[in-house]
Amino acid sequence: MTNDVDKRFRLFETLISEKLPEADVERIRAAFEFAKAAHGEQKRKDGTDFISHPLAAAELVFEFGLDEDSICAALLHDCIEDTGVTHGEIKKLFGKDVADIVDGVTKLTRAKTASKEDEQMENLQKMLTAMQRDMRVILIKIADRLHNMRTMEYVSDDKQRQKAFETMEIYTPIVHRLGMQKIKWELEDLSIRCLDPAGCREIEEGLEERRTADESFLERARIRIAEGLNQRGLECTVSGRVKNLYSIYRKKFNQNIPVAKIYDLYAIRVIVDTKHDCYSAMGFIHELFTPIPGTLKDYINSPKANKYRSIHTVVIGNEGIQFEVQIRTWSMHQTAEYGIAAHWKYKKDQEGKFSDSKNYPWVKRLLESQQDSDPQDFLRDLKVDMLLPDEIFVFTPNGDVINLPSGSTPIDFAYHIHSEIGNKMTGALVNGRMVSYSHLLQGGDIVRILTSNSAKGPSRDWLYIIRSPEARNKIRQWFKKEKRDENIVHGRQALETELRHANITMSEAMQEAVLQKLLSPTGFQNIEDLYAAIGYGGVSSQKIVNRIRDILRMLAKEHAKEQALVQDALLPAQRIQTGIKSVKGVIIEGLDNCLIKFARCCSPVPGDAVVGFITRGHGVSVHRQDCINYIEQEKQPESKGRWVNATWGETDNRTYDTALRIVMRSRKGLVIEIATVFNSMSINMTSFNAKETGDGLAVIGIVVEVKSRDELISAMARLMSIRGVTEVKRAEV
Ligand code: MN
Repeated sequence: MTNDVDKRFRLFETLISEKLPEADVERIRAAFEFAKAAHGEQKRKDGTDFISHPLAAAELVFEFGLDEDSICAALLHDCIEDTGVTHGEIKKLFGKDVADIVDGVTKLTRAKTASKEDEQMENLQKMLTAMQRDMRVILIKIADRLHNMRTMEYVSDDKQRQKAFETMEIYTPIVHRLGMQKIKWELEDLSIRCLDPAGCREIEEGLEERRTADESFLERARIRIAEGLNQRGLECTVSGRVKNLYSIYRKKFNQNIPVAKIYDLYAIRVIVDTKHDCYSAMGFIHELFTPIPGTLKDYINSPKANKYRSIHTVVIGNEGIQFEVQIRTWSMHQTAEYGIAAHWKYKKDQEGKFSDSKNYPWVKRLLESQQDSDPQDFLRDLKVDMLLPDEIFVFTPNGDVINLPSGSTPIDFAYHIHSEIGNKMTGALVNGRMVSYSHLLQGGDIVRILTSNSAKGPSRDWLYIIRSPEARNKIRQWFKKEKRDENIVHGRQALETELRHANITMSEAMQEAVLQKLLSPTGFQNIEDLYAAIGYGGVSSQKIVNRIRDILRMLAKEHAKEQALVQDALLPAQRIQTGIKSVKGVIIEGLDNCLIKFARCCSPVPGDAVVGFITRGHGVSVHRQDCINYIEQEKQPESKGRWVNATWGETDNRTYDTALRIVMRSRKGLVIEIATVFNSMSINMTSFNAKETGDGLAVIGIVVEVKSRDELISAMARLMSIRGVTEVKRAEV
C-alpha cells in the first residue's frame, strides 16, 4: 500500500517539476512526508492509507493550477483536524501562509453539516468569509470535497445522501460562481447519483439505447467541422460530447422530456489559437450548417460574471439534429474548465489578503448584504445571486458592459451603477427610448438613467419590480436611513393587516406581556423600532405575526396552568403543598410527586420530547415521543387515558443513563478512541460491550450518563468522526 502511495507521489513530483518549474519540490516532498507520518496508520473508509486522500487533494489543487503553498497546504489539510499536529508546528516548518490555509480548511471542515436553513447559511457564510481572506482555502476545500465525493461508495447511504445534498446546496453554487465548470459538472453528477440513483439509472439506460447513434452522429459532425475549418486554413482542435448527466437529469425530470426525445444533448467544442480565429470559425461553421436564429451568444465580448468566455451557437446538422457549438481559444478554455484558478495571481492585495475582490466582487457584496437582512432573505439572495442560470449584459452610454440577472429592470441597472444613481433616478432611456421603471432589460440594451437632485428617492413599489438582491438591499438601506417616520407608519400598517389575516386583534398583540417576549429577544428596543424595521423591509410582518401567535399560545397555556393550580389548591391536602414540582427533572401534567422511572426502550434525556405512561402500581414511566413503543401503544384502546403529558423541569445538573449503538469496522484501538471522546467531554461510561459480527464489523453497545440531549448529540457527532465508524444510534439500555 505505502509503496503505491510513494510511487504515486514520485510521479506527482515529476509532473510538478515539469509544469511548475518555479516550485520547490523538496518543500512539497517534506510536506508529503510530514503528513504521511502524522496520519500514520490511519485508514480511509475504503481501507487505503489515509495519506492517499491528501495526496489526491494535492493533485487536484495542482490540476486547478494553484501554487506551491497551496499544494503543501492540500497535503497537510487534514493534519490539524485528524492528528495531533498544531498550527504552530506547521507554521514553523512550512511558513505562516501554509499554516493559515490549513487552519482555514480545518474550520470549514468543522462546520456543521447542512440540514436546516440556518446551518446551511452558517456554512455558506463561513465559506464566503474564508474566500475573502484567502481564496486558496476554498479551492483546497473544493478539491477535498471532490475527492471525497469520488470515493463515496464505502460510506453509508445516509451519509452519502447528506454529503451529496450539501454538495449540491453549497459547493456547486460556489464552484459555478468561481467558473470551474469542469469541476461543477463532476460534482453535480456525483451528487445526483447519490441522491437519485434510480433516476440516474433510468437516464443511463436511455442514453445507452441511443449511444451508438449518438456517437456516430457526433463523430460525423466533429469531422465535418474539423475538415471544413482546416480547408479554410484554420488550425483547430474539435471535440464532441454528450452533455453532463445532471443537465440531462434536469431536462428529463423537471421538464418531463423522455431521454429519447432530448435533442440539445450534444455540444461540439472548437478550440482555436486567437480571438480573431474564434470569429472566423463561427463564420465558417455557419456556412457548413444552418444556424438557429437567436441562439448565438457572444460571451467573448461580454464574458459571464464568472469570467467564462466562448462563442455559443446552435446549428442544425444534416440529419436535422440540432447541436451546440462552443468556440474558444486555449486560454479561454483553461478559464472555462478551472475558472478562478486559471487567472489566479498569487499576490497579496493592499489589505494583505490573498482574496480577489476585483475579479469576484460578489463575494464582498454578499457578505455586506448579509449584515442587513434576515437569514432566510440572505439565503435566498445568495442562491439567486449564485445560481442565476442566466445573466444579461447591457451597456452604459459609454459602452461599459454591465452584468445583471436576467429579468432586471432599469432600477436594477441604476443601483448597480451606484446607490446615488438609483436614489436620484427619475426615468430611464433604453436604446434611446423612454421606458417605464418596470421595463424588462434585454441583453445588448444601452441603458441611460435620468437623474435629478430633486428626485424624491425610491418608491416602496420598486421592491416588487426589481430583480437583483443588490438593488433590494440598497433600496432598503435608503428607507432605513431616510424615512424612519414613514417606515414606522408603513410598518404598523403592514403589521395590522397581517394580524387581521391571522385573526389577532391589535390590542391582544400589544399587551405588555406579549411585547416583553417579542421585542428584546429579537433585538428591538421598543415597538417603534420594530415598526420601522418592518417598514424598510428588514424583517417581515408575517414572521412577527407568527411569533406573536406563538407567544399568545404560550401565554394561554401558562394561564391554564395557573388555573389548574388554583383548582388544585381546593383539593386534598397532599396536593396543596406542591406547586408544579419536577421529580427527577420531569414534570407530569396533573400528577405531582409521583413515582417516575425512565423507559429502558428509549432512555430519554433532558431535551428529548417526552410523554408519560401511568403504569399499574409502578408510577409513571417516561418515554421519548419518538419511541416506537409509545407510537405503537398509543393506538391501543386499553392504554387510552393512561398517556399523560410530560415536560422537563429543573434537572439540577443530574445525569441520565442512556444507551448508544455504534457500528464500526473492527480494528485495534477503537475502544480507546471511543473512550477518549467521552473522556474529553467528561461523560461517564457505565457499560461497554463489543461484538464482532464476523463481516469485519463490530457492534458496540454503551451506556453513558449525560446531562442533556445537546450533550448527547455532540458526543454522537464526535463518535461519527472516528475513522471506521459507520453508524451511531440511540438504543435500548
Ligand atoms: Mn480531507
